[in-house]
Amino acid sequence: MAPKLSNTTALITGASSGIGAATARELAALGASVALVARRRDRLETLATDIENDGGTALVIEADITDRAQAQAAVEKTIERFGQLEILVNNAGLMLLGPVLGADPEDWDRMISVNVRGLLHTTHAALPHLLKAAEDSPRQVADIVNISSIAGRVAWDGYGVYNLTKFGINGFTESLRQEVTRRHVRVGVLEPGCVDTELASHNTPEIQSGMTTPFYEQTEVLAPTDIADGVAYMVTRPRHASIAELWIMPTDQA
Ligand code: NDP
Repeated sequence: MAPKLSNTTALITGASSGIGAATARELAALGASVALVARRRDRLETLATDIENDGGTALVIEADITDRAQAQAAVEKTIERFGQLEILVNNAGLMLLGPVLGADPEDWDRMISVNVRGLLHTTHAALPHLLKAAEDSPRQVADIVNISSIAGRVAWDGYGVYNLTKFGINGFTESLRQEVTRRHVRVGVLEPGCVDTELASHNTPEIQSGMTTPFYEQTEVLAPTDIADGVAYMVTRPRHASIAELWIMPTDQA
């Protein structure tokens, strides 16, 4: 039997590490050609080589998705190479924690730029191609998976602007789902609890030692492959079934 995603193309943002890299590997193993988007070209090239050594097909696209033109170009390069786009995984993200009082507003701008603007840029550029794929492709369906967070469902002290971006993603996802679902573009949100990636490492040592490291030390957190499994589940449902929301938590995380 042909792999479930053969003859499809998936674009994954933030594919240079963590959840994005694991998702790219998983979708490629299921037969999708994968467009790997992030800023760190060296990481993407290593991943592409691994995927191709395992028999998959990968395209490296160095892009900063906070720049609308670069996000648009990433989608165009994917179409130039593969001729189609069936799956968009909006995964790139940044989490900078700490109190609002005394925060550096530059940190807020950076988070909003990646988590919100970047997601909007890639979605806007990809949507016409996804709608076309839902009409023309053998599967007759296309997918957007937005990687939100438990922080899109629950707010905590010190997470304010990260919460703002992830609650926003959840609202946008459901609105877009209602807009395009009858045209068979499925739009869903995946909300991970704590996953072992580089995400927390962008915080100051003080924030890490006070807010993130103790939690990691006391909790059996998820692996990026646990989330990649969830993405794969969402995009391999039969055409009539759309997973609008998937919340994946470490069993250990209350
Ligand atoms: P990582 O820090 O490992 O990955 C983040 C990815 O985003 C990197 O590949 C990075 O690539 C990319 N990225 C950041 N800025 C940009 C940019 N301007 N343009 C393009 N790509 C960019 O963390 P995770 O894998 O954990 O994060 C993935 C998603 O999962 C995020 O949206 C995060 O909020 C979400 N999430 C993570 C959880 C966790 O516990 N880890 C829990 C819940 C949600 P590069 O630097 O090369 O550009």
